[in-house]
Amino acid sequence: MSAKPLILRNGLIVTINERRDVFKGDILIEDKYIRGISANVQHNNADSFDASSYVIIPGLIQTHIHLCQTIFRNMADDLKLLEWLNQKIYPMEAAHTPESLRISAQLGLAELMLSGTTTIMDMGTVHHMDVVFEELVRSGIRAFCGKTMMDYGKIPTDLIENTQGAIDSSLSLMKRWHDCADGRIKYAFAPRFVLSCSDELLNVTAKLSQQLKIPIHSHAAETMDEVDLVKEKYHQDTLSYLEQLGVVGPNLCLAHCIWLNEKEKDILYQQNVKVLHCPSSNLKLGSGIAPIPDYLERGITVSIGADGAPCNNNLDVFTEMRLAALIQKPKYGPHIMDSETVMRMATMEGAKTLGLENEIGSIEIGKKADLAFIRLDQIYTIPFNNIYSKLVYSTPSSAVEYLMIDGNWVVKNRSLVYYDIDEIIKQTNHVSNTMFTH
Ligand SMILES: [Zn+2]
Repeated sequence: MSAKPLILRNGLIVTINERRDVFKGDILIEDKYIRGISANVQHNNADSFDASSYVIIPGLIQTHIHLCQTIFRNMADDLKLLEWLNQKIYPMEAAHTPESLRISAQLGLAELMLSGTTTIMDMGTVHHMDVVFEELVRSGIRAFCGKTMMDYGKIPTDLIENTQGAIDSSLSLMKRWHDCADGRIKYAFAPRFVLSCSDELLNVTAKLSQQLKIPIHSHAAETMDEVDLVKEKYHQDTLSYLEQLGVVGPNLCLAHCIWLNEKEKDILYQQNVKVLHCPSSNLKLGSGIAPIPDYLERGITVSIGADGAPCNNNLDVFTEMRLAALIQKPKYGPHIMDSETVMRMATMEGAKTLGLENEIGSIEIGKKADLAFIRLDQIYTIPFNNIYSKLVYSTPSSAVEYLMIDGNWVVKNRSLVYYDIDEIIKQTNHVSNTMFTH
């Protein structure tokens, strides 16, 4: 954090405010916060940064990430969800040591920040989660994170816990890490999905979530196979089952929501459940296409996430934005999911999903200075009239040159401030070759 105030001079500012202002101007940053925005900010004692070559946008928000899986990238292709989990992901998560988990988190965080993401909601693994929180603190990113909880079903013995054990270890992580790094890091309970969690685990999690005001981060209705298994077992659909257990409410953030029926969609809207949309993952696992235009029309909050590296295989928010727009068009028509709508999903709607709409998600006075700087003139993005079109359809993540979180530079001139990228590459290859490549 710069002790001195900082003025970002003459950037093209895409505010994402209610008036949808876009203009060339200055931003004053003081004590982590945006304190001034105008055509020409005056201040007697401020440093200045020449932003005239950049589009400045709110830091991008990804609400569904698995940092623990980054090191499994390119190791689990061409499988359906349940095989992908059972044959590849569970065994690899079970094999994690603190060292392998740490490098997986570092690799993921490096990729996320170099491609413009300033805030994530991360679903962790079962064990060793302190190292992930340590890296979240160190990296400078803003994050919600929690250990995944699984106490039921066909889960490897190394990953399944008893109900009380899963709850107790979640609470003890929460006590250690929630609201740390000056509020930058927060806890989120993470029961993995209905098929891996007992009634009791879901019910207790729901009560704790309400009592402690901690969100619940889970997956739902990702594939038809999963939906059928839930129906077979509980004789009702996923959202009705979750509602009966008290899990459904504004604290609930559900990844995917591809195969919901009309009644379940009504529950999403009525109970203000948040949908986390992961287009690359949904396509790669062959899961389906979530009916996002339908959700948006109903007034449901939808944000974006890359999911885990092995089902994507990147964590690049620009890829997710572009795909979020494109995949709906064959079904609903080319007018649907315009670029501004998608840009809002990756900023303000992400902030709303996390209950941070008064702190981040737009460039406005009083909000935290979480900003991404995108090079204005690049061969693949010029010319442009519509800034949202440029950002969603034609900007590659490599155009992100600077990134600021809490008024603090975390990427400068495409280099990470808190990590040595060569060391991360070396360690990743070493750990991957010794532990995960058989
Ligand atoms: Zn996921």
